[in-house]
Amino acid sequence: MLLAAILSVVAMTLIVGLRYLIVSGAFAFATGRRHPGLYAGRRAQIAREIGWSLASAAIYGIPAGIVAWGWREHGWTRIYEDAGAMPLWWWPVSILLYLLAHDTWFYWTHRAMHAPRLFRIAHAVHHASRPPTAWAAMSFHPWEAITGALLIPALVFLIPIHVAALGVVLAIMTIMGVTNHMGWEMFPAWLVHGPMGRWLITASHHQRHHRDYRCNYGLYFRFWDRLCGTDKGLGSFAPHVPRAARAHAAAGGEPGHAA
Ligand SMILES: [Zn+2]
Ligand SMILES: [Zn+2]
Repeated sequence: MLLAAILSVVAMTLIVGLRYLIVSGAFAFATGRRHPGLYAGRRAQIAREIGWSLASAAIYGIPAGIVAWGWREHGWTRIYEDAGAMPLWWWPVSILLYLLAHDTWFYWTHRAMHAPRLFRIAHAVHHASRPPTAWAAMSFHPWEAITGALLIPALVFLIPIHVAALGVVLAIMTIMGVTNHMGWEMFPAWLVHGPMGRWLITASHHQRHHRDYRCNYGLYFRFWDRLCGTDKGLGSFAPHVPRAARAHAAAGGEPGHAA
């Protein structure tokens, strides 16, 4: 029994790690096609991003593996497989609830980690990428990875969700995590700058967080940022910042918020 739980943790770690390598790799490849040279001269940064991300995969794998094992072996969780177990309208509602809950958790834990002490201990790793690349999606210090690892495994005990709908949530989480860091906007301007973009977070919004730090803390939605007055609007991309300027920026701390 213990062996089965351990195997489940190992399997989940491998799945999360491979998922990261495949999705980040695909968008890094797309970046090379769309904006050749955007990641030039950043091999060392990318190596660090991959190292931290794979460590995060191992941390995410622990609660996910235990919960997956408990679900299969003991019927834990409210994940269901029979499509008729809940009305069809629950599918989109459950997906939205998971995203809203994740966004809320992320906003407040992320904002807390910008307090100077927690920033130094944990969140500085994520901001060491200046600017981040598609490989930075899970580039977190282990303390931060732990806060990120717990929410979805906890939600499956609270909110019923079809296993395929959970797959949709995880796919959105993975793709947005990667694309929000890849250094260019893949969504069309009508979406990013239109009415939907006022509420949805894409790369242009998160880029501003990585540039200005104490704003734009959200994950999927701008709701909390707008409510709490931390939304500073969209950033813009300077695709070919000279290396010297990047090196200068990388040498400093969090600008203007040192203590
Ligand atoms: Zn980020
Ligand atoms: Zn941050």
